[in-house]
Amino acid sequence: MNIVELINKKRLKENLSFEELDYIINAYLKDEIKDYQMSALLMSICLNGMSDEETSNLTKIMLNSGEKLDLSSIAGVKVDKHSTGGVGDKTTLIIVPMVASCGVIVPKMSGRSLGHTGGTADKLESIPGIKIALTIDEIIKQLKDIGAVMTTSSLNIVPADKKIYALRDVTGTVSSIPLMASSIMSKKLAIGADKILLDVKVGNGAYMTNLDDAKALARTMVNIGNSFNKETVAIITNMDYPLGSNIGNALEIEEAKDILQGKVSNDLKDLCITLASYMVSLGKSISLEEAQKLVVDNLNNGKAYEKFLEIINYQQGDINGIKISDTIIEVKTNQEGYINNINALVIGELSMALGAGRINKEDVVDSSVGIVLTKAVGDYVKVDDVIAKLYIGNKQISNEAVLKAFAISSEPIAKEPLIIDVIK
Ligand code: URA
Repeated sequence: MNIVELINKKRLKENLSFEELDYIINAYLKDEIKDYQMSALLMSICLNGMSDEETSNLTKIMLNSGEKLDLSSIAGVKVDKHSTGGVGDKTTLIIVPMVASCGVIVPKMSGRSLGHTGGTADKLESIPGIKIALTIDEIIKQLKDIGAVMTTSSLNIVPADKKIYALRDVTGTVSSIPLMASSIMSKKLAIGADKILLDVKVGNGAYMTNLDDAKALARTMVNIGNSFNKETVAIITNMDYPLGSNIGNALEIEEAKDILQGKVSNDLKDLCITLASYMVSLGKSISLEEAQKLVVDNLNNGKAYEKFLEIINYQQGDINGIKISDTIIEVKTNQEGYINNINALVIGELSMALGAGRINKEDVVDSSVGIVLTKAVGDYVKVDDVIAKLYIGNKQISNEAVLKAFAISSEPIAKEPLIIDVIK
């Protein structure tokens, strides 16, 4: 096959066959197709899209490019969860123990942060001693012993995605629905869970900034999951404002602990209860109402927090050893009024500028820094009220830059709902 002919085919909006896509992916992995040729093809896909059949075929080819977990030796239904990524999104840390405490097995593999969105792997690594790069045998043993694992992809899972995603990241080809759907779903399918819950974020702090695109991405991923006989549900959730109050790795672990211990009630807690209830409903084949009762009971009776500590202990983490910077700067308002929005993208970028995230893959993350929002969307503030606290390491940001993220005005506007739609 000739890659230039195949690029031209996609440029002319024709469909690529399974054999053609298989050739492209495997030849690219062997460096027979060059980065500049792959970039041209990816851009043609971004501009002209892919049919459902092409997207499903691409997912299958990517899935088959690497190792897969076989979880069939573990009794019970295994339910996985994925978030398309946002600012302050520590839901995995809260949901995994919530769901596992209800008796549903949760094999969770997470990535690292890049750009303004955080990665669960970096958050977990702010817990001293924790081991998250696990072998297949370790993952299976832990799932059998305690019903949940929070790991990172040290395995050779979907190497085609690793190579293609790195190229997409530097060629403006990330935000393509078929490319995102096949990238995410090939990795989910490789983990081998029976059922999958997807949290598709939409808003200025998410990959998908408009609702129609978020719905199309959700629908495409649900169709892929179902076509592989994995019951898949997608929840579309708001990412115009950050999730919860803490942004930054160790700070986010602290907020997750607070929610699991019942110390804090906020939109993050509500979202986690909803997502966990869908997972428990999928895992136990019970109604959403019954599942929600189990989840809320286990949050209130401490079993969800006990499960969190059990997972961290099993993976050798020292939950009491987390270090948060003690250099704290208060940011005060210069305006009175209602907080009508807190721009998630701006807060995510500022947190990254403090050192909590990566601009390049090689960057080292400072887990002790970040931003705590002391006021939420909908709150009324007076001049000189503290609206945020900056936890500083060796990088600085200005208070003015933080203030710019807050939209404050004399009239309140209705807060956008956190849960926008459910796609099955
Ligand atoms: N996350 C992924 O894993 N892949 C994408 O393409 C985008 C976000």
